Amino acid sequence: MADSLNQAGFSAELVGGCVRDLLLGERPKDFDVVTDASPEDVRRVFPRSRMIGRRFRIVHVRMGREVIEVSTYRAGIDSESEAEESTHSHLGRILRDNVFGTREQDVFRRDFTANALYYDIGSNSLLDYVDGFSDIKSGRLRFIGDPAKRINEDPVRMLRAVRFKAKLDLDLEPGIDEIFREQAYLLRHVPPARLFDEVLKLFHSGYAVASFGLLREFGLFAELFPEAERSYGEADLEPQRGLVLQGFQNTDRRIEKGKPVIAAFLFACIFWRAVRRQCDRHEGRRKNTQQLLQRSAFEVLGRENQRVMIPRRVSTAVVEIWELQSRLEARRPRMVQRLLENRRFRAAYDFLLLRSRAGEVPSELAGWWTEIQECDGPDRQAMIQGLGGGRAPRKGRRRPRRSRPPAGNAR
Ligand code: ATP
Ligand code: MG
Repeated sequence: MADSLNQAGFSAELVGGCVRDLLLGERPKDFDVVTDASPEDVRRVFPRSRMIGRRFRIVHVRMGREVIEVSTYRAGIDSESEAEESTHSHLGRILRDNVFGTREQDVFRRDFTANALYYDIGSNSLLDYVDGFSDIKSGRLRFIGDPAKRINEDPVRMLRAVRFKAKLDLDLEPGIDEIFREQAYLLRHVPPARLFDEVLKLFHSGYAVASFGLLREFGLFAELFPEAERSYGEADLEPQRGLVLQGFQNTDRRIEKGKPVIAAFLFACIFWRAVRRQCDRHEGRRKNTQQLLQRSAFEVLGRENQRVMIPRRVSTAVVEIWELQSRLEARRPRMVQRLLENRRFRAAYDFLLLRSRAGEVPSELAGWWTEIQECDGPDRQAMIQGLGGGRAPRKGRRRPRRSRPPAGNAR
């Protein structure tokens, strides 16, 4: 890979997260290469590569199973330069940084020293302009330059710091928590779609519990999900029983075991309390439970979307998980089989388990749903029949809703 670029007369180094992770003995998630070749040059060296990205043009080169991202050195933003007006908003945030530059310039636009090491494969040497190596070796995550200024340029760097700290157990610079708390509000200026991506990276890193703790400690969670934050009581945040922390723990465990995870489950946990509260506010209006839930979900998620934009496909699944709760609780015999086949059953069942642990529903109910999944055929039928009571009314003979209750002690 680097060889090919070198042979064509270009420089090429591994950079960023992969170098950091290798030095920490972790398995890199992906490999990023930087070069002095322009994207067009890179495409000429690797004819089967693809150009991607609008804001930054990056070339994707496939190497066996891996896709390697190759980008051209970019110049950071020199705040003294005349370019400032066009590249920074009047508040100092970076709007455009797609100017090609030298490697020496490329270093200083990166966020942390640990992310700014260049590994030249050809000569097997590490290029270290910012003392990143000693920071990594002593477990420090340090901003390149003045933290307040770098955060102001791009507030997402606070979320990145949390992610690297949670995942790699790095120490932040002393005093940085103060700066985060002061600047947390800047997240309001970040496009909500970008925040969704970052939040998902945080919570699907395998270190959701740690990330959540840090986000709250730094006042970042309240900026991302203000209504959810306000809705939590002490019990929700209890590590052993609380629904929110249990949900994150469940996600971390699944990732550790290599099981699939879905974004909808996370957001179902994060917003459940807020939506329940919203339901309570509407309570007096006598809608049926599903309508009440749908309406409340729509309202809460609608407000939250102004901060973190949850894509429609995800929020639809979130609401489905919530809607299934009352159906799982009702256990109507005629519905059981259909519920088991529902495509959201698995997530809804996992969510029911969390609620059961939190004491919201009886553990007997959760146990019943566990058991019925483990049996089939006659055993399953027996369990359904064992529910008794609600035998399905025959077609066309459904009792009108407002009929007088039958005399005696039927039911
Ligand atoms: P990982 O891929 O493990 O999540 P990473 O450090 O590789 O972590 P990427 O988002 O892949 O993170 O970015 C690659 C590199 O680009 C980073 O290591 C960093 O040098 C630089 N970078 C990414 N995002 C920013 C940012 N918001 N501000 C400054 N530099 C950044
Ligand atoms: Mg990376």
